[in-house]
Amino acid sequence: MIFQSVRARLALWHTAVLAVLLIGFALAAYIFLDRTTAARADEYLASAAAGFVTELTAERIDANSDSAAIDAAASEFRVRDLGVLIFDHEGRRIAAGSGGLLSGPPPPVRHRQTGAEPEPVLDTARLREAVMQSAPTNERKLMLPDAEGGYWVSLIPVQLRNGVYRVAMVQSRHAEEETLEAARLACIIAIPIMLLAAGVGGSFLAKRSLAPVAALSERAARISATDLSERLPVRNPRDELGQLAVVLNELLSRVDHSLEQQRRFMADASHELRTPVSIMRAEAEVSLSADARTPTEYRDSLRVIVDTSARLSVVVNELFFLARADAGQQPLRRSALYLDELLSDCVRSLRALAERSGVIILPVLDEDASFNGDDGMLRRLVTNLLDNAVKYSGSGSTITVTLSEAPDAYSISIRDSGAGIPPEAQPHLFERFFRADVARSRAASGSGSMGGGAGLGLAIAQWVAEAHGGRLTLASSSPAGTEFVLWLPRDIPAPVESPSEFPYDSARSTPG
Ligand code: ADP
Repeated sequence: MIFQSVRARLALWHTAVLAVLLIGFALAAYIFLDRTTAARADEYLASAAAGFVTELTAERIDANSDSAAIDAAASEFRVRDLGVLIFDHEGRRIAAGSGGLLSGPPPPVRHRQTGAEPEPVLDTARLREAVMQSAPTNERKLMLPDAEGGYWVSLIPVQLRNGVYRVAMVQSRHAEEETLEAARLACIIAIPIMLLAAGVGGSFLAKRSLAPVAALSERAARISATDLSERLPVRNPRDELGQLAVVLNELLSRVDHSLEQQRRFMADASHELRTPVSIMRAEAEVSLSADARTPTEYRDSLRVIVDTSARLSVVVNELFFLARADAGQQPLRRSALYLDELLSDCVRSLRALAERSGVIILPVLDEDASFNGDDGMLRRLVTNLLDNAVKYSGSGSTITVTLSEAPDAYSISIRDSGAGIPPEAQPHLFERFFRADVARSRAASGSGSMGGGAGLGLAIAQWVAEAHGGRLTLASSSPAGTEFVLWLPRDIPAPVESPSEFPYDSARSTPG
């Protein structure tokens, strides 16, 4: 379970990496030490053996026999840490000389103290065996192991008058082995101590470095879904954890903002639905409260209920459309169509309403404007714009619908000669539930147009434009009239599953 904690894992990794490095370094140093000692001993032995052979050859000039020369050379051999043995061609030891090696040096301190095993001396029988196994004329290097580190032996053949002899120069490896053993011991003791210190130090460092994370998670645990106003502490905005806290704070702000938008949207939506429901209920209650009412009174009441429920149904439909669009469940059903025909149809369907309101609609359309789009949604968009133009421009005005073709896009302009939109309202036109002039909007909704006046029409129109990869903008608005321009690219880029969110800022919307 301890490995579930980042701190423990960091400390463990840190110690493990250090362990690998330390052990690797110790091994490399140990091998290097061992090899260098052996190489130095080889060189030393070879030169000592060569010196002895020279000495022996010189002795032979004056001596009567080979053995006299060998004895003389061996007895004069006085190198403290070396021994020399001379064998004849049958492997018999003829002479030996040493500075103490062969007779056995005094036991080292530890042996004297414990009174245990004495310092071993060279086992000449084994050396003889080794000498006999090697070819008489070959120089050879041997290693005679024993419990205390063994001996290095350099074997050189030497030709005297009566035959070939073999000179074995011997050096004890005991001192080197003790040095290596001390090095091994030092590593065995020092490495675990260093690793322990590294582990404790690593754990401490990890705790210190992760302290801001602990503070972050403690503060994050206090942030509840209903109150996202709290923010995470940022100790140092330049380090990684500070940046993480900044990013999380930005995320919290976005979530907070979008939750706030959702709350306002819900409040506006329920407000929008409550009004017609109250009207219908009041109308029905009034009708039921009187004992006898005339058929005309009943008919009037029912008309109010039908009109209001029609308006309610429009709002519910628009809300449903928005909810599906927000959830990315409003797919485009694209098909090949002609924009000029689509616009003509929309103009035709609104002409009766326009005439009733004393408005003239003038279409100026390029022909054969082929396009690949969702017929139903595009009709909804254009009808919304035309309906607004009729609703808000008033009797005697003219609406011009122009379709023009650019190389890669179509541009559709819907211009009316109404009273325009107040400048302060213009930036909020595409927000949900936004109505520039509530009284006028309500009045217009009662005129039989299909807008319903909930302030959702332009938001939906903009969504449809963006879903087609296009744009819907308010090109101009003044007391002389208003112009909306829809720009639609001929090649719809990638399928837009969920176009950009609706701008929604209820603080600016003015539900009636
Ligand atoms: P609504 O359902 O109220 O028509 P819209 O989203 O379609 O909602 O329009 C938002 C507001 O923009 C309207 O309430 C109206 O005040 C204003 N508006 C839209 N089109 C025009 C126009 N052609 N002339 C003047 N005002 C307009």
